[in-house]
This record gives sequence, C-alpha cells and structure tokens, in this order.
Amino acid sequence: MKKPLLEAIKDRPLLGDGAMGTQLMIAGLEQGNCGELWNIEHPDRVLGIQRRYAEAGSDCILTNTFGGSRIMLNRHGVADNIVEINAAAVRIVRDAFAAVGRDGYVIGDIGPFGGLMEPYGEFTEQQVRNAFTEQAKALVDAGADAIIIETQTSLEELGIGIEAATEAGAACIIGSMAYDVTLDGSTFRTMMGVDPERAAEFMEEKGAHVVALNCGTRMDMDRAKEAVSRYKAATGLPVMAQPNAGQPKLVNMKVVYDETPEEMVKGVVPLLESGTNILGGCCGSTPDHIRAFRRAMNDYLSVH
Ligand SMILES: [Zn+2]
Repeated sequence: MKKPLLEAIKDRPLLGDGAMGTQLMIAGLEQGNCGELWNIEHPDRVLGIQRRYAEAGSDCILTNTFGGSRIMLNRHGVADNIVEINAAAVRIVRDAFAAVGRDGYVIGDIGPFGGLMEPYGEFTEQQVRNAFTEQAKALVDAGADAIIIETQTSLEELGIGIEAATEAGAACIIGSMAYDVTLDGSTFRTMMGVDPERAAEFMEEKGAHVVALNCGTRMDMDRAKEAVSRYKAATGLPVMAQPNAGQPKLVNMKVVYDETPEEMVKGVVPLLESGTNILGGCCGSTPDHIRAFRRAMNDYLSVH
C-alpha cells in the first residue's frame, strides 16, 4: 500500500513533473484550443507526455486539468463534459505510472478560473465557488491523491479553491501562488500584491496542507529558494516549488523558456537544503529537466 502523500513527504522530498502546456503544444495542440479536451479526444497524446515524466522519475504528476473548471471549459463549449474530462485526466496519470511499473501520486490540478470576480469582473463569487467545487469533486471522485490550486495571485480566489477542495474531501490540498519579481529586483509578490508570508499564513488558516509556488515572472530556481525559505519562516506546513525554466523571452512572437536542464539543475540541492518537500518545474520545463532533477535528488538523498 502506498503511503498517503502527506505521510510520504515526511520521509523524503518528492519529485514533481514539468510543464504540460508547452508539451501539449509540441504534441500539436494549437494556441487557443482546449488542451483539457485531449483527455477524452486524444488520451494517447496526454499519456505520451505524462509517461515521459514518469520515466524521467516523477513521483507526483499533475493532471491535465489546469483549465478544467466549468468556467474555463465553457469558453470552448465543452463544459458538459466536465466530469468526463477531469476523471479521464486522473486515469491517464495513473496509466502513466502503471506504464513504468511504479505507483506515484496523482495531483488534481485546478488553475485560475480565468476572469475577475465582481465588482471588478463579470463573475459572482458563487459562480467561481460552484466551478471549483464541481471540478475538485470530479478529480477527487476519480481518485486524485491531492488537489493543487495553482498559479494563484489573489487570496480571495485561492481561498475559494481551498474551500472547494475541502468540500470535495481532498486528502491533501496544495495552494500555489505565482509571484513576480519587483522591477527593482528587491523582492517578489503576486500581481495582486500578496507576499509569501501573507500567503502562507492565509493558507494555513484556510486549512491547506502544503504551501507552494509556481510559474510567475523572473522566479527562477534562486528566487524559488528564497520563496521556500520565506514560507518556512512563516509556516510549519510542507512546501512545494515549481519554478519556470528561466525567464520568458519573446522569440518570433512566441514566449519561450530556454533554461537548460544543466542550468536549472544547479538550483536543486539549494532548494532541497531549504526544505522543499515537493520539487517540480513549471513553464518550459521538460522531461529532460525532470530527469536531471531526479539524478540530483538521488545523489543528494543518498548522503542525507
Ligand atoms: Zn508556468
């Protein structure tokens, strides 16, 4: 029997996965199309990507459901398939682990709902709450080991996400913020002005089990380490980090992340030394990055 995720991270740090969105594009998903629909229309392609992460050594893989809430799926006219799309996503991650003969952790992914709430935007709090609760239930009912509410910039939306995951009965709830380094480079906070200390305190109050960061602007491995240290000073909860593969650059009107596995892997040991419990990558990271992370983590764990 596999230990629950929250037990497993007490024994040793776990390795997450890398980017999904960029990998879907490489597999042929066109800009603006619904990547989550591939869970039911092209499950083989999603499995192909996640299997490469499992082969690279991921212990935890996020479901391909970043935009899998009703509000997001509605934009593509496929909201009626919400349960099917989210359930298929959980199954595909399980299949990816099965394909390499290992039992890993399925982290059900909930991204931002993609709009603004009243009074600034058109969505009511209740609509967002319903959308997150519906998606969280679909993921948990399908057997996800954890729920991550990720790339969050506002505590209001994050809080609704944590409550939704709680309501869905998630065994492990991860809240993950996207920080931007300030122009003068002195610190970082989310677009909505939230700093790591406030986020950590808020998540603990709300009943999240893991505080995390992912994505953001200019949040490389060094900055992620700084964020982990600040989280650790503000809360006793475990910490997860998924930085991007370097800074986004605009090449031929496309955003690219070009930090190589060799460059990025230099930040692995410092992040582990800072107490990171789950380490993965966000935009631009690939199975090659995760393979490099695996080797560095194994070397580190063999002497610690
Ligand atoms: Zn990202």
